[in-house]
Amino acid sequence: MSVLIPLALFTAYDYAVPEGLPLAPGDFVAVPLGRRTVMGVVWGDGDDSVPAAKLRAVEARLELPAMPEVSRRFIDWVANYCMAPIGSVLRMAMSVPEALEPEKPIKAWQLGDAESGKMTAVRQRVLTALENGPPLTSGDLARAASCTAGVVAEMARLGMLRAVALPARRPFGRPDADRPGPTLSEAQRAAVDALAPLTPGVTLLNGVTGSGKTEVYFEAIASCLRAGRQALVMLPEIALSAQWLGRFEERFGAAPAQWHSELTQAERRVTWRAVLDGEAKVVVGARSALFLPFADLGLIIVDEEHEPAFKQEDGVIYQARDMAVVRGHLAKIPVVLASATPSLESIVNTDQGRYRLLELPDRHGGAELPAVTLIDLRRDKPERQQWLSPSLIRAVNETLADQGQAILFLNRRGYAPLTLCRDCGHRMQCPNCTTWLVEHRYSARLQCHHCGYQIQMPKACPACQHEGTFAACGPGVERLAEEAALLFPNARRMVLTSDTVGGPKKATELIRMITEREVDLIIGTQIIAKGHHFPHLTLVGVVDADLGLSGGDLRAAERTYQLLHQVAGRAGRAERSGRVLIQTYDPARPVMEALKDHDQARFLKIEEEDRRQAGMPPFGRLAALIISGSDDGAVEKQVRMMAAHAPRVDGVSVLGPAPAPLAMLRGRHRRRFLVKCRRDVAPQGFIRQWLRGLKWPGDLRLQIDIDPYSF
Ligand code: ADP
Ligand code: ZN
Repeated sequence: MSVLIPLALFTAYDYAVPEGLPLAPGDFVAVPLGRRTVMGVVWGDGDDSVPAAKLRAVEARLELPAMPEVSRRFIDWVANYCMAPIGSVLRMAMSVPEALEPEKPIKAWQLGDAESGKMTAVRQRVLTALENGPPLTSGDLARAASCTAGVVAEMARLGMLRAVALPARRPFGRPDADRPGPTLSEAQRAAVDALAPLTPGVTLLNGVTGSGKTEVYFEAIASCLRAGRQALVMLPEIALSAQWLGRFEERFGAAPAQWHSELTQAERRVTWRAVLDGEAKVVVGARSALFLPFADLGLIIVDEEHEPAFKQEDGVIYQARDMAVVRGHLAKIPVVLASATPSLESIVNTDQGRYRLLELPDRHGGAELPAVTLIDLRRDKPERQQWLSPSLIRAVNETLADQGQAILFLNRRGYAPLTLCRDCGHRMQCPNCTTWLVEHRYSARLQCHHCGYQIQMPKACPACQHEGTFAACGPGVERLAEEAALLFPNARRMVLTSDTVGGPKKATELIRMITEREVDLIIGTQIIAKGHHFPHLTLVGVVDADLGLSGGDLRAAERTYQLLHQVAGRAGRAERSGRVLIQTYDPARPVMEALKDHDQARFLKIEEEDRRQAGMPPFGRLAALIISGSDDGAVEKQVRMMAAHAPRVDGVSVLGPAPAPLAMLRGRHRRRFLVKCRRDVAPQGFIRQWLRGLKWPGDLRLQIDIDPYSF
């Protein structure tokens, strides 16, 4: 039999099957690999031509339900499409890939023999914490007795505590479809009626922010639950979804199972097993949840389907929204893509009849869309070294006087994007990447946002050794906060960026402070744009709308539209109407006009036409090949050789080689080819032909990115 192992391997390996061990595809097995035993999945019959005597044997079949066939076909499909090692794709479908036992009991402590060690005040506290209560884990026990884990360990060694195995806690409940939901509006009802029969196929649920899309797809989930099947909800940023989770619990009376990178290993094991058993009925997760081995998946929802966060950029490079559509197709189940600002790809797919379109044109309860005004920065000039125009300052003051809440949005972390020496002109650059180091003043550090390199803010310029000559160039949120403190000293202010948020707990707390109106002025990055409902917010000021429009991104304008529209959508979601002020140097750009007029359709038409003309996605196909290595000369030689060997195929053109958008990243030099294909030609076949027989000497590496995002 062939067994696929969750490591970066391009094929499954053949193993002999010991007599009397019945195995079928999908079975989880333990197999020898080198000197280790690893977990794998039986993938197929294997290669008969190799005599069994030459093969190593499967060691055991694990006590687990088999991985369903559609999960396996999905893994095959993704590996093939993304040109990724199939073992790496399988890895995403495992709980804790290194572990052979997928569900480990949790070790906890109960009272042992109190006499067996010397009694001290601390030890007495530990014993008291366990008296009349359930067994506790080391961490919980140490917390309850305010002692260190060392005290617990020592007491266990002495026999004063005894270990027990607890079944791992299920971090989710059983959602109840039949609890009453809200009374739906007519438009919502129509959408629910269209979704509830759970007909296979893709539906785009396009509705302005606040139109009640979530309530609509909750009903689809309810219908899936009534059918006894599992549902998957994909959210772009699970750490920021406390509000969503709260609403889910309110509707279904129980928490969904969550799948994301913040889970502990124990939680991963339990959740994974419950998904495989079919016990976890609703799973909410980020990208990787898509690969879970669902026993019987009946519905996939992709919320905020336009979000770039669905694109995974390292390891297996894939677009989770697109792969969700594939998974739905393989399983013959419905997929719902929801957004207030759908991607051009999804819009074109509905225009061409591949996706069904459901629209919710109005905000729920008749709330108005906020009025959007463009501020022309060429006329309405901020003071020198400041970023807020007189009009925006006035608007913030009016809002504050009116007891409203305001957001100043700037999608840039840190204090300043560039630090240079005023004396010698030296610019502080990352030693590993072609980027400037970003000053973070709160932590007094310079940081690279690409590789994580950071240093203490130096006193003297490293080039000319002069002290106190650094100049901060351009704004970041921290600098904007400084300006806001000067201009609005009496406002209660909060800075919201991934640097101040940290983990999901802190995020929940900060969001709560906003919704309960404990702050007046929020200064934040895109982290505030996503999904939240801020009932008191009446003003959104976009500080630099042009920020995302430079650089070589095909989707720059689309992204800008989506992001700014989302931010704008935070305003005036409740009784109070909202307004949005957008600062730009180029108010005549179509994307700015579309934002002002709430005219998504017209904007998308212009974008669509541009892309059609250029043969760019979705009207053509694109793949990027990034060749990297620590030695620039070797990389250069490799790409020159590749360029000479590129096959000539009708409908395919190869652009490059050129320096990759980050010409150096994490100390590796990077060059790139773009493969541009006609819509009816698949780039994968071309690339396979091109790479055949190619050698990758030294530490040269190739990264293939099908449907690349930034270039
Ligand atoms: P969207 O997902 O389109 O942004 P939501 O589903 O979050 O919209 O709905 C926006 C607001 O309106 C939420 O506060 C939600 O609770 C409320 N809402 C939506 N539909 C209804 C309904 N049928 N009855 C009562 N409140 C609703
Ligand atoms: Zn770097």
